[in-house]
Amino acid sequence: MPIAHTNPATGELVRRFDAMDDAALAARLDAAQQAAADWAERTLAERCSLLIRVAALLRERRDDLARLVTIEMGKLIGEAEGEIDKCAWVCEHYAEHAAAYLADEAIASDATRSLIACRPLGPVLAVMPWNFPFWQVFRCAAPALAAGNPVLLKHASNVPGCALAVEGLLRDAGAPDGVFATLLIEADRVEAVIAHPAVRAVSLTGSDAAGRKVAAAAGAHLKKTVLELGGSDAFVVLDDADLDRAADMAVTSRFMNAGQSCIAAKRFIVLDAVEADFMERLRAGIEALRPGDPAHRETTLAPMARADLRDDLHAQVQVSMDAGAVLAMGGQPLDRPGFFYAPTLLEHVSPGMPAYDDELFGPVAAVIDAADEEEALRIANDSRFGLGGSVWTRDAARGEAFARRMQCGCAFVNGMVKSDPRLPFGGIGDLGYGRELSRLGIREFVNQQTLWVA
Ligand code: NDP
Repeated sequence: MPIAHTNPATGELVRRFDAMDDAALAARLDAAQQAAADWAERTLAERCSLLIRVAALLRERRDDLARLVTIEMGKLIGEAEGEIDKCAWVCEHYAEHAAAYLADEAIASDATRSLIACRPLGPVLAVMPWNFPFWQVFRCAAPALAAGNPVLLKHASNVPGCALAVEGLLRDAGAPDGVFATLLIEADRVEAVIAHPAVRAVSLTGSDAAGRKVAAAAGAHLKKTVLELGGSDAFVVLDDADLDRAADMAVTSRFMNAGQSCIAAKRFIVLDAVEADFMERLRAGIEALRPGDPAHRETTLAPMARADLRDDLHAQVQVSMDAGAVLAMGGQPLDRPGFFYAPTLLEHVSPGMPAYDDELFGPVAAVIDAADEEEALRIANDSRFGLGGSVWTRDAARGEAFARRMQCGCAFVNGMVKSDPRLPFGGIGDLGYGRELSRLGIREFVNQQTLWVA
């Protein structure tokens, strides 16, 4: 994929970027390797003060950064502003909590003193996607930097401006040379980067195809990986749910970011008893969406980020319809410039359809009928992806019992699945493995050293 900025709202190519040549790439890898020992030796307080300065710069530059996100990948301006705020939050969160998260853990043994001590691992390669072009990077980089690891960013080729802006933030906040670098390279050069001795671990968020390739390359070089790949989250509406709230959250969760979120609700599993009432509300919510220029605040549905992603989504919708899904709304690209797809509702979705089996990464809600709670649970768990899921019921205990049986990494009761720096984020199955955020996230890329003193 060419490294280029194309405005998703107009389809116009704004700027092409030259990929780094081999010498420039090697210089950045060497710089990371050289910086690693010094960064590891800095006190935790020094490393955390960098994060505090980055957070301050994110807030100071919020408007410009949000505008950049909007014109580069098409996100609604209000959502882009929220994304920048959340990046500042995750930096501050780790600045405040890294000491506790990384603290020695005493363990009683035959030693006078034995414990787990967290030591830095070395440079982490972050292979990141375009859908949250700042958040995905900071979710990985803030804990890695606090833990004492330099970060090398290979960002998606359609968000080079964001990739360079992140590097600028770190530089202006005073990150020492080599502690953070953006690698403007194509995907086919990532394997060589993984092989480089500077790189000690890899974190990838993206498609399962990319995840498999990167994990295979990292495995060949015995480097640790954390993978956050696709999701096809279930959104289960039980017969005692608050239907107004559930439908409201269903529309928000499915259509924010034009449906391009790993934790968007994608499969709506609705008990027969409330299906008619829920669907009426869901249809009304979808009908009210207003596609348009994402820079305008009255717009409520953004374009998709790239033409190929929109075309792939359309093919999935068509194949699902050929297999018997009923199109209730939308179902085609919008007839206007840019990469817009009509807000779409597919009903009576069943196994064997892409809308049931695969991830629909765009503004398409798939509704699956379920006779009762047990069938709803079976369908919710009938997915190769295991990222998140939510269940809606007025009975919190019933909801929690249901959520505990959901086969996914993040189960929510009466709330849309979201990430939060305080809570672990990740999943099972084809979603990948490992956890981001919270104490678990910062401990992924450290050497948890056993210390034994007689
Ligand atoms: P990709 O997985 O192709 O891209 C994600 C990142 O991985 C980008 O930086 C990309 O670089 C890089 N990459 C791609 N292939 C390789 C490779 N072989 N080796 C190393 N790095 C690689 O996702 P797409 O943008 O093409 O989106 C396709 C689908 O992936 C979506 O429709 C969605 O289903 C899923 N996806 C999931 C996301 C999530 O949040 N879980 C985020 C984005 C996508 P480059 O851009 O240069 O190709």
